[in-house]
Amino acid sequence: MAVNGKVALVTGGAQGIGRAVVRTLLQNSAKVTVVDMNKDSGEGSKTELDKEFGEGNLAFIQCDVRDGAALRDAFQKTVDKFGHLDIVINNAGINNEKNWEKMIEVNLTSVIKGTYLALEHMSKEHGKQGGTIINVSSMAAFLHSPHQPVYTATKHGVIGFTRVMADASIRGDYGVRINALCPGFVDTPLLQSVELEDNMGKFVKFKDDFKHSMNKFGVLQPSFIAEGMMRLVTDSGLNGAVMKITCSKGIHFHTYEPMSV
Ligand code: NAD
Repeated sequence: MAVNGKVALVTGGAQGIGRAVVRTLLQNSAKVTVVDMNKDSGEGSKTELDKEFGEGNLAFIQCDVRDGAALRDAFQKTVDKFGHLDIVINNAGINNEKNWEKMIEVNLTSVIKGTYLALEHMSKEHGKQGGTIINVSSMAAFLHSPHQPVYTATKHGVIGFTRVMADASIRGDYGVRINALCPGFVDTPLLQSVELEDNMGKFVKFKDDFKHSMNKFGVLQPSFIAEGMMRLVTDSGLNGAVMKITCSKGIHFHTYEPMSV
């Protein structure tokens, strides 16, 4: 799928991985809405990207993805502004073992909400033209770090939900490809939070294990994650795929055994 002229909505797109993805989409001549709760970084990023890519290509909507009504409104405003919707990237995520119920809401419940809203605007079931959804998981779903139990659970959840929805899309002829992306450690503000008691609660005592893993596996740049994301966006053969991005193996895919019981 060529990205030129397509319309994308990216949650958590004001900084970090989301911002790199937004920039790459704009470079490829897409129109983009950033949905993020951080007004300062959202507006600051918009000003910079408008200078680089011209005004009228990027919208910023301040929204907490946990607020279902506000998220629904953000999807509708995107379609009202740009005419249609083709690409949805459910990327907003936090690292907070202390307030783990909030983390489940942001990292998993909001990804589910974002996927269902995306289908309302893109699925053939709703008389729409099809499109693509990418849900951001993490290598945490495979590495099992001792200081991120609930974060790990949410990222497992994102993979399971995404794979089943990809099957539902085929069975239901939605015309929407649905894939998951699992980055390794990425150099963003989120990575700094693993040292803080405010984020990690009682698991902060395992922070040296985490640092050891970071040194062992290395830290990626957000622009490289955006490169993998673009492959998921553009490769029309991918549905239900679980892309992993690591320093040692680069962009690659998890393979699953055929199901047997
Ligand atoms: P980040 O903290 O740099 O950026 C996250 C963005 O999401 C911020 O702009 C923040 O304001 C926004 N956000 C957070 N909660 C929100 C909410 N409730 N509503 C709306 N916006 C909200 O983080 P990042 O590293 O860029 O992470 C992006 C995604 O990638 C997350 O899902 C994260 O779990 C995942 N991830 C990150 C890493 C890493 O090492 N950085 C590794 C694997 C996966």
